Amino acid sequence: MNNGIRIRPARNAELPTLARLIENQLPDMMAGRKRPANIEKHLASLIPDKSLILATRGNRLAGLTAVDIDHALILACYLDPETASPETPKQLFKAAEQLALSYGIRKLGCQVKKQVSGFIKSMGYRTGSEAGDSPTPVLEKDLLDGADPELIALIKLQDELGIPADYGIRYRMCLQPEAKTLVPVGRDIFDRDQRLVPAAATAWTRLQTAASGHAIELKLVSAFRGVNYQANLFRRKLEQGQSIDDILKVSAPPGYSEHHSGQAIDVTTPGIKPLEPEFGETKAYRWLRSNAGIYGFKESYPRENRHGIAWEPWHWRYHHRPGL
Ligand SMILES: [Zn+2]
Repeated sequence: MNNGIRIRPARNAELPTLARLIENQLPDMMAGRKRPANIEKHLASLIPDKSLILATRGNRLAGLTAVDIDHALILACYLDPETASPETPKQLFKAAEQLALSYGIRKLGCQVKKQVSGFIKSMGYRTGSEAGDSPTPVLEKDLLDGADPELIALIKLQDELGIPADYGIRYRMCLQPEAKTLVPVGRDIFDRDQRLVPAAATAWTRLQTAASGHAIELKLVSAFRGVNYQANLFRRKLEQGQSIDDILKVSAPPGYSEHHSGQAIDVTTPGIKPLEPEFGETKAYRWLRSNAGIYGFKESYPRENRHGIAWEPWHWRYHHRPGL
């Protein structure tokens, strides 16, 4: 929020309008890239990653940026000179950097027009290692430079455990900040105390009560798990001689588990082995599929999910929805 400008990911419904604006030659700060043949289709491919970012003022577009997550590159930064404020490009770049960082990207690049390279450099971008003789070299920014100390410590921990640096990019997983405020939500099936963030705790109680009204018993298997818990789990498995690739097949690396957020739950129902796909065959799962959304919960890893992660019918995440 700055000068009435709002920064947010683009929505599907906005794509035709955005594609038209780009086709009409909205000025772009980036250089050296060909526009894709089908702009709308290209923009649509960015929506699931939230990597198409808009700056709006009221219902007018002030600018937009797009990040290529796979190549850690800012693809475009369009500005509408009539609606943008002088701060808008900075705000868009900051949002692009935060998004890249959330996928664990450490260095973000961009190829800019000569006349704006001074401005881009003022935001911490430097001529990249593969600059060559191109008239518009790739400029790079080290995103860890000046980053939150907690994040730097997390990246160090991941490196130390041998987690591939491109894990977030490869699986389209975002770093999950560890919840700070947690409240008790009772015991799990192993008789351990469990905690969630307050809004998720309230939603979970409502979900569980509603299920029991339909003769469905939902039981907690796990809720909040901190980064250290997950790191120790990895260390134990490594000590047992498992390879990092094998561990990653069944566990999210520390930093990427949704359980860090205090918004994710693993559930089961009596008579079913916890954390096994057979939960997906139960009445409880079918009830969740139809009703969990009412209480703000969503299945994070359904069958054939975009993360390429095995189906986890027991894993649900609370998504804060204002006005719910
Ligand atoms: Zn889970």
